[in-house]
Amino acid sequence: MRRLQLGEVEVLHLQGGRFRLDGGTMFGVVPKALWQKECSPDPENRVDLACNCLLLKMGGELILLDTGIGERFSEREQAMYGIDPTQTLRTSLAAANCAPTDITQVAFTHLHFDHFCGSLLAKGDEVTPLFPNAVHLVQRGEWEDAIAGRSTMKSSYRPGEFRTLARQVEFRMLNGSEILTPGLESFITGGHTQWHQGFRLQAGGQTLVYPGELIPTRSHLRPYWNMAYDMFPHQTLTDKSAFSARAAAERWIIAWDHDSTSPWNRIKQDGDKFTSIDIEEDG
Ligand SMILES: [Zn+2]
Repeated sequence: MRRLQLGEVEVLHLQGGRFRLDGGTMFGVVPKALWQKECSPDPENRVDLACNCLLLKMGGELILLDTGIGERFSEREQAMYGIDPTQTLRTSLAAANCAPTDITQVAFTHLHFDHFCGSLLAKGDEVTPLFPNAVHLVQRGEWEDAIAGRSTMKSSYRPGEFRTLARQVEFRMLNGSEILTPGLESFITGGHTQWHQGFRLQAGGQTLVYPGELIPTRSHLRPYWNMAYDMFPHQTLTDKSAFSARAAAERWIIAWDHDSTSPWNRIKQDGDKFTSIDIEEDG
C-alpha cells in the first residue's frame, strides 16, 4: 500500500477496483496507432484502468475521496467491463486497518458508477451504505443533473441508488468550491461533467491535488488525449493545460483517479509538453 506523509496528514492510496474500458473511448480523437503504443489493448480493444481512491487522515477525520466501482456487478457486467472481483475498496480498507464505520466523510468527484458504486453494498435485493457514519459530499449541480438524466452518459448514473443512499446517510450538497475540513477544499473542474469536482489538500508545505477525470491517467497529460466520455471536451482541453502548467510550476503532487500503474506523481513542463515524474526522484 502506497502512503504519503504531508506534515500532520497521512494520505493512503486505496484500490477501489480494476476494470477495462474501450481504448478508443478513453482517448477520444487520438488514433489507435498512437495510443496503443502507450496502452496496449486486449483482444476486445479495452485498456486497463484502476479506480484509485484516497484516504486522508487529518484533524481527527478519516476522509475518503471517491469510492470506486464497488462489488455489485452481474457476471455479464463483470465480463463487459473486465472487472477484477478480487480488488475492492473493502479489501483495501482492511489492508489499511480501517473499518468502514470509522470513515467520517466521503467526497465524490462526480456520480458515475465507477466513482460512486463503492459506497453501497448488496443486501439481498436491496443496497445498504458501506459508510453509515460518514457525511457524503457531492456537488449539488452534479446530483441534480444525475437525477434528471441531463447527460450524454446517462447510463453511467444510478439515480435510484443515490436516493436510497441519501435516505440512509447524511448528505451534504456542495455549491462550488468549499472547505471540507481545514486544509482540504473542493474545486470545480467541469469538462467531464458540468459540476465535476477535484480536491486540493495543503499540508506540511505541500499541495496534493486529486483532479479526478480532468486528467484520469498519466497518458491524458497530452492536451488532445481526452476521453470521448467528456460532456465538454473543449473545456477539458483548455483547462487541463492551464492546470498542468500550474501544477508543474508549483510542484503539486497529482493523484490520478484511473491510472493503473501509478497512484501519484509530479508534473514536468517542457514547452507545451507535460510529462509525469516520480515523487521520490523529484526529491
Ligand atoms: Zn466519469
